Amino acid sequence: MTVPIVELDFVCDLCDRLVDDQQGCLRVLFTDIGSYRAAEREWRTVHGDGPHSMRDVVRMPEQVPWHIHHYSCTPDESGDGYEIDVSRVRTWRALVAEPSRLMTKSWLSLSDWPQVFGAAAGGGSGRNWGLPRGPAA
Ligand SMILES: [Zn+2]
Repeated sequence: MTVPIVELDFVCDLCDRLVDDQQGCLRVLFTDIGSYRAAEREWRTVHGDGPHSMRDVVRMPEQVPWHIHHYSCTPDESGDGYEIDVSRVRTWRALVAEPSRLMTKSWLSLSDWPQVFGAAAGGGSGRNWGLPRGPAA
C-alpha cells in the first residue's frame, strides 16, 4: 500500500482545527464574486479607466477571498461556491497545478488565489491555512 504524500495542512477558518481529507475544502463563494464585480463596476465609474493614482488603487475592492472550511463548519447561509477538497491540494505540485484547472473560471483573477500560495509558503498572507508540514517548512 502506498502512503499518500502530504506536504500541506489546512486549518479551518472557523474552528482553527486541521482539516482532514474529504472533511473540508478551499472555497470561493459566488456571492462574493458578484459583490466584487459590483464593487469594481462602481470603482470604475468613479475612477475611470486610468491612469490611476496610488490613492485610487488602494481604494479598489479587495479580491474575492478563498476560505478553508470543514464541510461541517460551513455556514448554511453562505450560499453556493466553487470548492476544492483539501485532498486535491496536499502537495506543492498539486497546489501549483490547481490554477491550470481553474483557468476556465472567469473569476479566478478576481480571487486572492496568490494568497493561497503565500499562505502555503508560510508567510505574507496573514492567513493560517495551507501551512507546510514537516521539516521542509
Ligand atoms: Zn472547522
